Amino acid sequence: MSIDLNMRILVVEDEPKVAAFLKQGLEESGHQVISAYDGPSGRRLATEGTFDLVVLDVLLPGINGVEVCRAIRQAGSLTPILMLTALGTTDDKVAGLDAGADDYLVKPFEFQELLARVRSLSRRSLTPPEASETLSYAGLELDLSKKEATRNGQRIQLTAKEYALLEFFMRNPERLLSRALISERVWDIDFDTGTNVVEAYIKLLRKKVDRDFEPKLIHNRVGMGYILTDRP
Ligand code: CA
Repeated sequence: MSIDLNMRILVVEDEPKVAAFLKQGLEESGHQVISAYDGPSGRRLATEGTFDLVVLDVLLPGINGVEVCRAIRQAGSLTPILMLTALGTTDDKVAGLDAGADDYLVKPFEFQELLARVRSLSRRSLTPPEASETLSYAGLELDLSKKEATRNGQRIQLTAKEYALLEFFMRNPERLLSRALISERVWDIDFDTGTNVVEAYIKLLRKKVDRDFEPKLIHNRVGMGYILTDRP
């Protein structure tokens, strides 16, 4: 008899019957369940809240599960995602895994099967691989457990917000990040608040990360956003 770990699980499922069945079963197994019934609210909850696991249906109103999954990963979250697919086609599974899902289950499934997947994913999330403890790019390193940044081995002192901003860049290297996306993910605020908070923080971060080092890593793409890259 294995011991179930008490997890906080987000279930995104639009079919009321299936949603209720999942909620009841998972709660009876000792987990806490938060439900969302469409893509947009699932995406909002998953990117704003803290969960140990997301169970995500593929066919959802508003935005489909694959898009929700992609948004969760783009937000920098490593929360394990279990996709539920009714179609069971190879394309569907590949799209989900491509978008960053950890596992999938084809509907209809036995509840025991779901529980087994949940257990296996929870073990994975509790023992993250060594590599995920550190993010590194071009000599810049973030120690996620200590929340420390170094460049070429030299410690960089950052405030909590600067750290959060840098972590977002480091989780999305060589990707153009719009100001709107940054403010939404790092500040939890909707664009456009009329403030220059993102620019101000980028300036502060560049001073610490780039001023005394080469090559420069944080670049402005005028009118589009910012990018972390060693190839300007
Ligand atoms: Ca559905």
